[in-house]
Amino acid sequence: MPYDVVVVGAGPAGSIAAYECAKQGLSTLLLEKSPLPREKPCGGAVMYHGIRVIGGHLPRRLVEQRIFGLRFSLPNGAKAEFVSDKMIGITVFRNRFDEYLTKRAVDAGSELMEDTPVIHAATSDGTAIVRVKDGSEFHSRFLIGADGVNSVVSRSLGLRPERKDLTKVGLGMESDFYVGEDGVDRATNGNPSVLEIIPARNRISYGWIFPKREHLAIGVAGSGVHMRALRSVFDQFHRDVEERLHMHLPLEKRRTCFLGGDGLGSRNVTDRAILVGDAAGFVDPMMGEGIAYAMKSGVFAAAVIDSAIEEGKYDAASLSEYQILCKKEFSANFRMAAWAGSRGTAFAERILPHVSGYKLASDVMSMVARGEIGYADIPYLILKSLPRQLPGVLMQVVKSKMSVSY
Ligand SMILES: Cc1cc2nc3c(=O)[nH]c(=O)nc-3n(C[C@H](O)[C@H](O)[C@H](O)COP(=O)(O)OP(=O)(O)OC[C@H]3O[C@@H](n4cnc5c(N)ncnc54)[C@H](O)[C@@H]3O)c2cc1C
Repeated sequence: MPYDVVVVGAGPAGSIAAYECAKQGLSTLLLEKSPLPREKPCGGAVMYHGIRVIGGHLPRRLVEQRIFGLRFSLPNGAKAEFVSDKMIGITVFRNRFDEYLTKRAVDAGSELMEDTPVIHAATSDGTAIVRVKDGSEFHSRFLIGADGVNSVVSRSLGLRPERKDLTKVGLGMESDFYVGEDGVDRATNGNPSVLEIIPARNRISYGWIFPKREHLAIGVAGSGVHMRALRSVFDQFHRDVEERLHMHLPLEKRRTCFLGGDGLGSRNVTDRAILVGDAAGFVDPMMGEGIAYAMKSGVFAAAVIDSAIEEGKYDAASLSEYQILCKKEFSANFRMAAWAGSRGTAFAERILPHVSGYKLASDVMSMVARGEIGYADIPYLILKSLPRQLPGVLMQVVKSKMSVSY
C-alpha cells in the first residue's frame, strides 16, 4: 500500500518531518541507512531556536551542558565574550539526540526502517518511488529527502549536481575527547556553559571547544576549498588546544563530514518531493550551524505537504510555498553570515573585542540564538535599545579608558 509520505534519513530534519507528518495523521515511512543509534560528525551544539521546535523541552539525560554564552579567542590574542542570563542552547551527543527525535517520530505514528539505505529515488505523475539496497521499492504520494549533505534523493531527482562543489559546501573534522568531569572543569575554568570558538591558524577556517559533561568536543570547519588539508589542520588545532589547556587530550577517532551550503540558492522542491536540512543545504555559512535549520525545515516541509494533500495538488508549483517559508525564515541569517564569514578573521578582530562585555551585545547574541530575532533585526534592535543602554555603555567606555591610563 502506498504511503502518504516517505522520509529518507532519520537525522534531525527527517525525524522532525516524520513526526510532524504522522501527527497530522499522514501515513509516514521513515527510512534510515544506518542501524540506530548512529554517529554523526558534529560539535553537538544545538541552539535554542532548534530546541524551540520541540517545545523547548528535552529529557535531562540528553543534555550534556546547558549553554549561556559564546567566547571568541582571536588570532591577534584578543578575546570577546557574550554571556546571557538566558540559556542559548545545549550540547548533546548526536547519536543520543537524533535517536530521541526518531523515537519521538515513531511514537507519533511513523513507521521506521533502519539499516535500510535508499539507493535511488524518482517521481512520476502518479507516485514517488524510492528503491532501497535490497531491491525493495516504496511508493508514496510525497517524498522528503532528509538524507544529509551527500543526499542520494537530491541527486536522483536532479536537484543537485553529481559532484560536490567545494566553493559551496563546507568541510569539517571533529572528535570527542574524554577528560572526565574534573577535566571539563579545568578546561573551562569552572564554567562549562560557554562555547569557545577559536579561528584556526590558517585564519580562514575556525575551530571550537564545546564542553560536554565528561568530554570536550573539539573540531575545525571551514569552506571546502580552504579545508583540503583537513587532517593536518585538525591535528594542528588539536595540538594547539592541548598546549592552550595544558592538558593531554587522547584522540580516539577523527570524524569528518561535508557541511551543507547554498541552500537558498538552489531548487529544493520538485513534483511530489521536498529536500530538507543538509540535503537542501540549510547551514549557516559562517558558523556551520545546521541542526536548528534542519529541524525547522522539517516542520515547513510537513506543513506544506499536509496542505498539498488536502488540496490534492502534487506539483512543484504547489510545493513552492516551502521555498518561500524557508527563504523568509533563513535568508537574512544566511546572507549576513555569508557576508561576515567572507571577511575572514580580520573582520572578527576589528568588531568583536569592541562590543565584548556590553550587555546589549550579549542580549542580541542571546535573542538570535534563542530565535527571538533574526540577524536582520539586529540594527533595528540596537537603535531601539541604545537610548536605554547609553549610560551603561558610556560608563563602560570610561572604565576601560581609566584602566588603560593606570
Ligand atoms: C564537523 C561538523 C560539526 C558540526 N557541528 C554542528 C554544531 O555543533 N551545531 C549545529 O547546529 N550543526 C553542526 N553541524 C551541522 C549539522 O551536523 C547538520 O547541519 C545537521 O546534522 C543536519 O541534519 P540533517 O537531518 O539534515 O542531516 P543528518 O544529520 O546528516 O542526517 C541525515 C540522515 O540521513 C541518513 N542517510 C544518508 N543517506 C541515506 C540514504 N541513502 N538512505 C537512507 N538514509 C540515509 C544518515 O544516516 C543520517 O541519519 C556540524 C557539521 C559538521 C560536519
